[in-house]
Amino acid sequence: MGVNSQTSSVIDPAEWVEYAAREHPRRLFLRTLAGRQLSYEALREQSARLASALLGRGVASGDRVAARVEKSAEAVLLYVACLRLGAVFVPINPACTPNELEYLLCDSSPRLAIVPPGERDMLAPLADRAGIQCLETLGADGNGSLSELARLCNPDRQAPGAHDPDAPAAIVYTSGTTGRSKGAILTRVNLASNATALAAAWRFTGQDVLMHSLPLFHVHGLCAAINTVLASAAGILLLPKFEVRSALQHLAHVTVFMGVPTHYTRLLQDEGLNREATAHMRLFVSGSAPLPIETHQEFLRRTDQVILERYGMTETLINASNPYDGPRVPGSVGPALPGIAIRVTNRDSGTVEPKPDVIGTLEIAGPNVFAGYWRDPDKTSAEFTADGWFKTGDLGRIDRDGYVHIAGRVKDLVISAGCNVYPREVESELEALPGVAESAVFGAPHPDFGEGVTAVIVPEAGAVLSEAQVIESLSTRLARYKVPKRVLLVAELPRNAMGKVQKDALRATYACLYRGS
Ligand code: AMP
Repeated sequence: MGVNSQTSSVIDPAEWVEYAAREHPRRLFLRTLAGRQLSYEALREQSARLASALLGRGVASGDRVAARVEKSAEAVLLYVACLRLGAVFVPINPACTPNELEYLLCDSSPRLAIVPPGERDMLAPLADRAGIQCLETLGADGNGSLSELARLCNPDRQAPGAHDPDAPAAIVYTSGTTGRSKGAILTRVNLASNATALAAAWRFTGQDVLMHSLPLFHVHGLCAAINTVLASAAGILLLPKFEVRSALQHLAHVTVFMGVPTHYTRLLQDEGLNREATAHMRLFVSGSAPLPIETHQEFLRRTDQVILERYGMTETLINASNPYDGPRVPGSVGPALPGIAIRVTNRDSGTVEPKPDVIGTLEIAGPNVFAGYWRDPDKTSAEFTADGWFKTGDLGRIDRDGYVHIAGRVKDLVISAGCNVYPREVESELEALPGVAESAVFGAPHPDFGEGVTAVIVPEAGAVLSEAQVIESLSTRLARYKVPKRVLLVAELPRNAMGKVQKDALRATYACLYRGS
């Protein structure tokens, strides 16, 4: 377990709703494009009804509620209902396969599982096999058995009293690029402390409206976005998903945008992204994957807006952020947030690197660090150091100004002829070449070098690139051992729902690239 078990003086998540509904009952909490509007008063009332409905279905404080529901106002209400009841919210990607769903249900063993109305018949046998006794439905337009029950419920019924700050609030499954995904247990104080830190760091006020176009089954859309809004009694414009045209069309009604790097690269491809469209915006935030320096610079050139990049992960929520007022350095994720500590340790010996600018493993301590992996004490103890720091699995360095620079995942490090090659460094050089839109660098088995540095690149529209020419250009910018042995031109990179490049998929596709070399 981490060094995070101390309680904190931050306000419990359930209190956010009570406070905002008391102080600003008529303020808009959430609006959808379909015209659904929820004031803070309505949020309190409707989430309380849902909490009573959950109680009525046997869910008590501490019980898990698995939700594989469409992104909607109802889904947000369900999350808030769980927070208020003390139930543990387990969000599930609606696009997961029946196989994956069965695994997640078996693993999380929820008291109640909630699915869209149209999927109940299909999923009932699967829930049965997972030993789930209670299955309810919740639709995006307010239909479904749970909503019906909630309408009949007394909103004053749920009031469990004070919540334990160290109690689990959510179990969020990691993207699971290696093996089965693991459930990260996030406590109430994890959520509360991080939202409070972000609201302060990013200067959120009740006048803000966030454009929410991220999924709700990941900590970026669930915690960084919704919790920060709730903690500041601000508002949300909830979009079903990110689409460039829709985002640009509705930008005039919001003040803050949180996105992943691909959102920014796609926005830049549209002529509608310009100074006029963004002049009123207070903040653009990027995270979940590295933001290419070129994207940062091009966005600034087109809009005069300096994207604020931050760094986080399922197990720790947000760790570091470029400053609101100070320099937002392209290619860096900024210093650790107040109250959170980040250190660099030697990848082999595990000793702490005392000097700045040395690349090693990033480790985190603070009230944001999760309580461990669900029902997996071995994995939990393997991921914490003896002195209680969480090993992120990311490589990076901290510069003299305290800014963190991510070098990539430990498992993505390429070791070619005994030399370490940090993929992010090579990707940055590739993305700086004219005509290269995106890139990914990884190691593929090589008979001579152990691993051959390999790159896939996506050319910009209309750009004519050749492998030989790209390799030659890189040779003048990088030491020889870092220059990719092969550069393959592709139409797009394999990405997951959060826009992260799936390097495992690339390694599998190109596993035989150097066979016979
Ligand atoms: P997840 O748990 O799915 O949110 O993935 C977390 C991982 O995403 C981190 O461990 C990093 O490897 C990566 N990540 C998140 N934010 C950034 C960022 N701003 N720059 C580079 N990598 C990032």
